[in-house]
Amino acid sequence: MARRNCRKVWVGHVAVGGDAPIVVQSMTNTDTADAISTANQIAELAAAGSEIVRITVNTMEAASQVARIRDLLDGKGCNVPLVGDFHFNGHKLLSQYPDCAKALDKYRINPGNVGAGRKKDEQFATMIEMACRYEKPVRIGVNWGSLDPDLLARMMDENGRLAEPLEAEALQREALIASALTSAERAVELGLPPDRIILSCKVSGVQDLIKVYADLAKRCDYPLHLGLTEAGMGSKGIVASTAALAVLLQSGIGDTIRISLTPEPGGERRQEVVVAQEILQTMGFRSFTPMVTACPGCGRTTSVFFQELARDIQAYLRDSMPQWRGRYQGVENMSVAVMGCVVNGPGESRLANIGISLPGSGENPVAPVYVDGVKTVTLKGERIAQEFQLIIDDYVRTRYGNER
Ligand code: SF4
Repeated sequence: MARRNCRKVWVGHVAVGGDAPIVVQSMTNTDTADAISTANQIAELAAAGSEIVRITVNTMEAASQVARIRDLLDGKGCNVPLVGDFHFNGHKLLSQYPDCAKALDKYRINPGNVGAGRKKDEQFATMIEMACRYEKPVRIGVNWGSLDPDLLARMMDENGRLAEPLEAEALQREALIASALTSAERAVELGLPPDRIILSCKVSGVQDLIKVYADLAKRCDYPLHLGLTEAGMGSKGIVASTAALAVLLQSGIGDTIRISLTPEPGGERRQEVVVAQEILQTMGFRSFTPMVTACPGCGRTTSVFFQELARDIQAYLRDSMPQWRGRYQGVENMSVAVMGCVVNGPGESRLANIGISLPGSGENPVAPVYVDGVKTVTLKGERIAQEFQLIIDDYVRTRYGNER
């Protein structure tokens, strides 16, 4: 399916929309006022493959640290574009902290959280003026949980007078879209060029998200930021996000994605980046890291060795990518198979760049390895995992080893 035609917007050096690849982004969960922790987490997210990182800018202390965070990142050689997430007081923070306004590569504005009544228009206008002054793009990011109450009330009144009123849920979806489109229209009236606007309309239900974006995509040519908001924790968050985004991406809708996972306590923030990449890679839109094909195991696999090997090899490949990315062109397309027995093992191994077929129960305790479809060696003994990893390293160097 072809991607929907839309404008291209530059966020720092990263293009979103137009003919650009679908961009992966993420968001920190550190206190932005703690510049060192925030810069470290941004660097981790960028190393994991986040191409844009958003940070909360909610207080004067946070705003005062944004330029320092940029400097800290530059000092680490990390040039990932930064987006400031503003609510309620964004107009003040952007006006009072010009270094913050300059250091950010995009401002996220939630039209439902910029103030109430007449102040809302003024405060929204101030943020757009700052974007114009510093030549920054904005994301007008509407969210189900903070939909503009005045707009919703007005639309409900109007809807009530219609001969065939919309049902409540359809009206809410329409209000989300109207909030995004009218805010974008207003930003353009205030002088912001249309090719500096990205839109999002996030909701937390899969079917609602699909309906909202399918409609929004038809009604504008702005790039769209996709994400299921408040997706949740663990497999629920991953499955719900994937279900919603897969349908939209397959329809050509979506120019940048973020997976809003709730991390497990102590869990890694970069998991949301991994999930976003895996959605795009398994759907065939982009490649980020070599993928492991592994069978689920069954009664023929009687030890956990096979599961450990599949897990460790995938982790090794992902952890190696920050170094490999710059050195080995095309390595992200490499496929590795880790199979539990000879039933499907040799077949899948032959289809991968490198494959190993471990011995199932009752089989000879040997593990044939295939490289580009040819059986090259049979591993056995205690060091199968280490030797297989060395084979992968050797393959990466020889197959992808033209220094960039
Ligand atoms: S490849 Fe072998 S171990 Fe893996 S699921 Fe199939 S039969 Fe079971």
